[in-house]
Amino acid sequence: MMGPVLNYINGEFVEAIDGATIDDINPATGETITTIPRSQAEDVDAATNAALAAQASWAATTLEERISWLYRIANALDAQSEEIALLESTDTGKPVSLARRVDAARSVENFRFFAQMGEQLQPTTFEDHGAINHVHRSPVGCVGLITPWNLPLYLLSWKVAPALLMGNTIVAKPSEMTPLTAKFLAKTLHALNFPAGVFNLVHGYGHEVGQAIVEHPHIRGISFTGGTATGKVVAATAAPMFKKLSLELGGKNATIVLDDAPLENIMDDVVRASFTNSGQVCLCGSRILVHASIAEQFKADFVQAVQRLKVGDPSDETTQMGSVISRDHQAKVESFIALGIEEGGRLLTGGTADQCPVQHVSPAGAFLHPTVIDGLSATSRTATEEIFGPVVTVHTFNDEDEAVQMANATAYGLAGSVWTADPERGHAFAKRIETGIVWVNTWLNRDLRTPFGGVKQSGVGREGGMWSIGFFSELTNICVQQS
Ligand code: NAD
Repeated sequence: MMGPVLNYINGEFVEAIDGATIDDINPATGETITTIPRSQAEDVDAATNAALAAQASWAATTLEERISWLYRIANALDAQSEEIALLESTDTGKPVSLARRVDAARSVENFRFFAQMGEQLQPTTFEDHGAINHVHRSPVGCVGLITPWNLPLYLLSWKVAPALLMGNTIVAKPSEMTPLTAKFLAKTLHALNFPAGVFNLVHGYGHEVGQAIVEHPHIRGISFTGGTATGKVVAATAAPMFKKLSLELGGKNATIVLDDAPLENIMDDVVRASFTNSGQVCLCGSRILVHASIAEQFKADFVQAVQRLKVGDPSDETTQMGSVISRDHQAKVESFIALGIEEGGRLLTGGTADQCPVQHVSPAGAFLHPTVIDGLSATSRTATEEIFGPVVTVHTFNDEDEAVQMANATAYGLAGSVWTADPERGHAFAKRIETGIVWVNTWLNRDLRTPFGGVKQSGVGREGGMWSIGFFSELTNICVQQS
């Protein structure tokens, strides 16, 4: 077993004050990897006190010094990117090849990207009535960063980098199911002699340590990524305390295939959009809406392509889909497959582990084949509630108006994609979809300068590029009369 994961508070690795722990499980084998602290409010208090004590000196560093720190962190992570990929694969059950390509690469890129953004920040001034208005950015203060299990270091670094750049101190909490790379980040900072107290890490359950972070009176901003139900609890606690709040929540994204889409060319991307990371990317398309005139051909080609996906041991370099995050999550996904059948759906491929077992994997692993369900109403529960697993439903429409209506028929609005031979048609169509991002003829094509976030129940606020800079700073105006 790997050595225990510890909290990182005031530059020291420490156990939870009461010594309690939680097991961290490898979902592909069911084996215990290590233990993590089961922290409580008193641990959050210690981390917050360390952050508050470090706040003034960190905020007093120059922007150039903080940029230099971000580059140093990026370089140190880059030099260890293979280890990041291995840790992420072990903790989440995702293929190591995916962890390398997506998780490790993007974690490094997040630090480099925000360092570069820092270099481009320009002072903003407005001159009028003989006075110059200087828009001033100060740090928010101590911020709480809470992240989910699907892209652990990718999402944590997406928050840590801009928070540090803008002079904030941090109390971070990764998912209790995927603590390894947050620990790795803390170790990396420690080895670089990063100033103590600026970055603090507290592990544990959401309803205990996460809730304590959100409730803490001296934590001034909360950036939360996770499920919509949890987001509601976070908002209900933080909003009356007037904390700055960014909520990146769940989705039920539509993949819309228009009648002129060149099926042969798009199939690999549509499969990728459906099943990357076992469908556990908040941006995955879990509802495919296809024009009736090409639906039969689409379904035949799609099912064939899905059946070619190699599901299995995440450490095998040729594996394309690993396990889901846990046996509990597997049971939740399977309950949606059963619901889909109950609601009148028909399995085109895949199914529960009993119906369609994955071969050559540990019997204790949380494996499912990619599953495609046809014949459901676009307003059924299976087609409108977030499953967050390797399950997609397929629906047909007869014209663009009907496609728009179906795409918008969920409580969510995080992402979506449109596939067509005519990019301008796709662009015009995309404007009618109520969602934070629409990709036309591409998927997961992310320019980090763009705004990221959801509408409706997929979130509140935007992160990414200048929007992250905005969230992690307080804007004030200083008006200086010139004469
Ligand atoms: P989750 O909401 O269960 O947990 C997210 C984090 O919140 C974890 O660290 C958890 O411990 C913590 N938490 C739980 N209860 C809390 C509470 N009361 N107060 C404070 N923190 C609490 O989500 P999950 O299952 O880890 O992740 C999957 C969800 O995340 C999916 O819904 C997915 O769509 C969403 N997600 C969204 C985005 C996005 O950018 N919009 C990105 C990735 C994942």
